[in-house]
Formats: sequence, C-alpha cells, structure tokens
Amino acid sequence: MSHTIQIYNSLKRQKETFEPLVDGRVGMYVCGPTVYSDVHLGNCRTFVSFDIIYRYLMYRGFQVRYVRNITDVGHLVGDVDTGGEDKISERARLEQVEPMEVVQRYSNGFHSMMSIFNTLPPSIEPRATGHIIEQIEMVQDILDNGYAYVQNGSVYFNTLKFAKDNKGYGQLSGRVIDDLLAESRDDLKNQSEKKHPSDFAIWIKAEPTHLMRWNSPWSVGFPGWHLECSAMSTKYLGKTFDIHGGGNDLKFPHHENEIAQNHGACGCTPARYWMHTNMLLMNGRKMSKSDGNTITPQQLFSGDSEHISKAYSPMAIRFFMLQSHYRSTLDLTDEALLAAEKGFRRLLEANQSLQKLTHPGNGSAGALEQEIDQLIDQTFKEMDDDFNTPKALARLFELATRVNGLRDGHLPFDQITESTLDRLKGTFETFIYDIFGLKDETQADGDDDALSGLMDLIIDIRQNARAQKDWATSDKIRDALTAIKIQLKDSKEGTTWSKA
Ligand code: AMP
Ligand code: ZN
Repeated sequence: MSHTIQIYNSLKRQKETFEPLVDGRVGMYVCGPTVYSDVHLGNCRTFVSFDIIYRYLMYRGFQVRYVRNITDVGHLVGDVDTGGEDKISERARLEQVEPMEVVQRYSNGFHSMMSIFNTLPPSIEPRATGHIIEQIEMVQDILDNGYAYVQNGSVYFNTLKFAKDNKGYGQLSGRVIDDLLAESRDDLKNQSEKKHPSDFAIWIKAEPTHLMRWNSPWSVGFPGWHLECSAMSTKYLGKTFDIHGGGNDLKFPHHENEIAQNHGACGCTPARYWMHTNMLLMNGRKMSKSDGNTITPQQLFSGDSEHISKAYSPMAIRFFMLQSHYRSTLDLTDEALLAAEKGFRRLLEANQSLQKLTHPGNGSAGALEQEIDQLIDQTFKEMDDDFNTPKALARLFELATRVNGLRDGHLPFDQITESTLDRLKGTFETFIYDIFGLKDETQADGDDDALSGLMDLIIDIRQNARAQKDWATSDKIRDALTAIKIQLKDSKEGTTWSKA
C-alpha cells in the first residue's frame, strides 16, 4: 500500500504529493479564533477538519508541530485598516472590562468547546499580544527591504511595488493587481494615507481612545491582524514551512497578505501547501446572525432552537462534519443531523459486534478475505487522497456490512483468516477513535452511581424550575453543567445527559 498523501494545494489549485521539508516531520500553522465572542459552529467545523488532518498525519507516522494562534489584538471591526475599532477593545469598552478579560473569557470558552468536540490541543498556541516584539521586528524588515512605507505613524505594505517586482500578489486568491487598482475604497478613513487602495496596514497608530497599544519606532500603536500570523508562523515553524490552513474566507485578504509580508520580510515563500476549509451553511444558506439563520453549539446540544427537532450530542455533530469533505460546504439541516446520529450509532454498533467476534480458528484466505483486505486498504487510500473523510466512512460502512454478515452467520468465517479479522478489528478502532476522534458517549453515561444519582436530582430541580418558568435557574444549571462538560439533552421523552 502506498503511503504518499495527496494534498489539494490552494496556492497551485491542484492536488500534489505531500513532501515535507524535513523527512518525517510536519510543520502546520492554522489561523485560530479571534477571541471577542463565543466560538461559532463555523469555526468549529474548520478546527475539527484540521484536527482530523493533524490526527491522520500523526497516524501516518509524522512528527507534527501544529501551531494554532489566538488572535487577541489587531482584528478590526469592518475592514482591516479602516481605522475601525479593534474587535476585542470594542467588546471590552462595551462591557467595561479589561481587554484581557475579554480575551481570557472567550479563550476559555473556545478551549472548552474544542474539548467538547474532542479536538486535540495544538502543539503551540501563541497569542498575538505575546509576540509584539517579533511583529515590530518583521515590520522593520519589510521596511528595510523597501516593501513598506510610513505615513503618519502607521506602516503600510506597498502592494504595487510587490506586484511590480513580480512577486505574485494575488496568486493565492486569484485577484489580479489591475482589479485591485480599479478597486475604490474612498470611504475608508485612512485611505488618504495609502499610496494604493490595495496597500494594507502592518502597524497602526493608535487613536487616543484605543485601549491596546505598544511603543514602536513609528508610533504608539498596534500590529495589523495579518502580520501576527506571519510573525508567529516564522517564529515557531521557520521562514518556510509545510502547511498553512484556515477557512477559505481567509484567503483574501488575510492569507494573501501573509504571503506578501513573508516575501517582503525575508524574500521567501512561507507555506508550501495552503489548505482551505469550506464554509458551514444552514438550510442551504450562509449561517448569519443578522437574518436569524444561525445556531450555537449549545443550542444544538440542548435542542433549544427552532431549526432542529431535538438535541444532538457533540459526537453526532462531529460525525456529521466528517460526512462532508473539508473542501465542500457543509449544510446543517435537521434531516442531515438525524441521519448523522443514526449513522454514528450504526458505526459504533458494528464496531461493538466486531470486537466481540471470535474466530473459530479454521479459516483460510478466501474471496471474503480478499474483499475485506481490499476495503481496508481503500479506507486508508481515501484518507491519503486529500483526507477524504466521507469516502473513508463509506468504506467503513461497506466493511460494517461484512461484519454484520459474519455476526449473523450470512458470511462464512472459514473464508477469512484470524489475522484478517484482527486487522479488521484494529482498523475500526483506529479509524473511529484515533483518526476520526469520535467517542462512544453512551459508555460514559451512568457508569458512576453517585454521579448518576446527582444528575437525576439536578435534572429534577431544573425540571421544576422550568415548570415555574424560572428560565434563569434552568439556564444557569445547563450552563454550569456545560462548563464541567456535562451536556443536557431535552426531548419529548424528558431530559437526558452525557459527558463530553
Ligand atoms: P475568526 O475567529 O473569524 O477569525 O475565524 C476562525 C477560523 O474559523 C478561520 O479559519 C475562519 O476561516 C473559520 N471560519 C469562520 N467562519 C466559518 C464558517 N462559517 N465555516 C467554516 N469556517 C469558518
Ligand atoms: Zn492568520
């Protein structure tokens, strides 16, 4: 079986054989969340996708350094350098708390959601505010190389010079500089400071009211959002590294500008493979708060939303995410979730049956053996082909049919050897738990009598609160339980719970 992995490289718009810079090692950078509000389900889709990529690369024997940042400064409301307020500063001002309190609260929430979805923590999780010195140094390098200019204390990247030197501005997003030239953004506040509309700020002079600010050679200010990822990926993975990922909404301007900055600072290409996940939709439309077409993870876990008929467990949702390829849009509908929940249960049941099968000991390699071996090889090949989780799942279900046939006596045991049965058992365990990162949530239920008794009591108290329309108490109980990773599920039959 060939062990090469094909990756769709967004930069080249084609699949390529993955060849790491250093044999056996992978450096992967993924743009993390901006921690100014609760993590939304779209973010979760992207991070679950990269979690599976991370897990599969490790399964394939690579030593992976996975860097996923926390954006805690520089991401402005509206456009990147319109002079709009920093998203975190704005939230801090509105709530009358320190910006770092906002950052801490939503970072905690993000981590807890990642653990509910059973994603592995990255190897390094750097914060932008912890890397101001590196960012100032990078701005200086870009200035020294002639790819940036200072205007009134802010520093702008000179996209026109970069494009004229034929460095390929627009290559990732497919935008050509002529289009960028034609773009008029007269309404931008700082527009007059730029030499060209597509230039972007890499250091921004702080307005007197701006809460987060640092000294720099150019002004008291703060770094541009794009710059932080360039500085942190360089610091932890080197000037050139293997994989850079994020949602495809970040291709332009964020990733395009990252590439320009890295070129501008060191004359080198940052990542060799760019991977982009597609967006999460709901009922065929973009998930958007403004028109009500949105649902939070908590609403999914509790069933408390007009968009769904019941509560779904975190693992049923993870399974649902696996059913689409990371480069396809993922359309969240109640029917799709119901189907995913059923599919997940079927897969777990097949695995339970499989693990209980014992070989009678007199089997020899027959047609069935060959079929099973081939299907196992194909399951891995689907993952080798740009991490195709839906196809790998389809192969596992084909194998599940064979498992059920063996269990029910429709298929002959004497046509497979004991070692193939063992290989089949190992494949199911590896895929379900190690590669797909799923968990059997029923296993955690009620296995501790005291916990089980306490949960019955808590659910009873919450039921009483709800009966008296005391929603505050009911929500408080649910939120407190979520914080300790216990999910409540409300349905017509009553309330059940599970550990995440
Ligand atoms: P943000 O916190 O907005 O900076 O986004 C964090 C990550 O989530 C980025 O990689 C985004 O591209 C990704 N992302 C944002 N919205 C969605 C969505 N609706 N579907 C999938 N990924 C998303
Ligand atoms: Zn980034």
